[in-house]
Amino acid sequence: MDKAEEFLKEKFAAYYQREPEHLTLPPEFEQREFAFFWFTRRGALRHISFINQEELIQFMAKEGPAHVFYSAAKYRKPDAPQMSLKEWEGANLIFDIDADHLILPCQKIHDWWYCKECSTRGKGRRPETCPKCQATAFQEKKWMCKECLGVAKNEAIKIIEEFLLPDFGVVRDDIMVVFSGHRGYHVHCFTDEVQPLGSAERREIVDYITGVGLDFPHHGLVDQSYGIPKGPDARTPGWEQKIAHGIQAVFRNPSIIKEIPHLKVHQKEKLTREASSILRRLEENPPRYVLPKGLGKVAWRAIAQFSVEQMSAKVDEPVTTDIHRLIRLPGSLHGKTGFLVKKLDTKSLEDFDPFKDAQVFEGSTEVYVKESPAFMLGNTEYPPMTESRCELPLSAAILLIGKGMATIDEEGGTSDV
Ligand SMILES: [Zn+2]
Ligand SMILES: [Zn+2]
Repeated sequence: MDKAEEFLKEKFAAYYQREPEHLTLPPEFEQREFAFFWFTRRGALRHISFINQEELIQFMAKEGPAHVFYSAAKYRKPDAPQMSLKEWEGANLIFDIDADHLILPCQKIHDWWYCKECSTRGKGRRPETCPKCQATAFQEKKWMCKECLGVAKNEAIKIIEEFLLPDFGVVRDDIMVVFSGHRGYHVHCFTDEVQPLGSAERREIVDYITGVGLDFPHHGLVDQSYGIPKGPDARTPGWEQKIAHGIQAVFRNPSIIKEIPHLKVHQKEKLTREASSILRRLEENPPRYVLPKGLGKVAWRAIAQFSVEQMSAKVDEPVTTDIHRLIRLPGSLHGKTGFLVKKLDTKSLEDFDPFKDAQVFEGSTEVYVKESPAFMLGNTEYPPMTESRCELPLSAAILLIGKGMATIDEEGGTSDV
């Protein structure tokens, strides 16, 4: 058996033994299906349930699982071996925001790939085909940093503050935000009204939040063949308000006008030059949608569409629409990082720093680092490392082992926790 995997199992088990109080169990805990993935063996253990918290803690402290999930759904028989036998009784509404699904500049710094055929390497996202040998099989190494996790966090805040609270009328106490332990955040909504919703209804909610299929005339942007077009009014709640705010934001920060698709360069220049006078009219009550000569309804539609992209939240649709979805248990550890899957509330979310606030291990150990990027953990900055043997704080060592970038040296011991 791989020594590094045995090491992680042991450290995780000891953590659950030592600090079980971080576990946050979902409501109707005994109706949930649990699933476990392992360090030292393949496959998952699924279709099991627990009758009380002590039983679950004992199990985790003994087995040291790499990943722990529970079902967003409640079942009459959560441990039935097939979905059709479980007797579904509703599910929480969950949203998954994963930095890996966003395209961000920092990925060019900390992600890399290499071709399995010819070993050509590159930074950022892997190409469709290898530029040298045209092969399509790659090994990818992805990392996460303050920047991409910050973007993911802002999306989580957006879902809560711009959609769940104002538009869906969910109360703050029914919302839980969880750092996923790796590249993103989960938003859980426990409201009674969402429990019975099926997949199709949940897809409607995702479409609303992601701004898919918005029809502008229904949100205040009415085409007129002559005269001044009527535009969205910020006093009308819902998407009309969001589009109005988005359009105002464009003219408040004219440097982003150049990013708007479907506008010609000279049109963008004109809009940039006259941004402040356009904004002044947009801020009147009612707003006046006046553009410089030569720009009309087509330009307004392009600007409105751009605003929708800015105001919508980026969620991973399949997670929300799957009514049998398994989601990470808050208070468990993520097997690829050793980070705590940390429960937050809408207030603590703002200041949360996963590289400090999700660290649970103390002590140090000797590891052999194959290759790792520069990163920051706790208050320590780590330089990029290649093929080096070194003593690292346990949290950094577990992160690198979990990410497949380091191994435990055969002779190396641990100067324990
Ligand atoms: Zn190649
Ligand atoms: Zn990043």
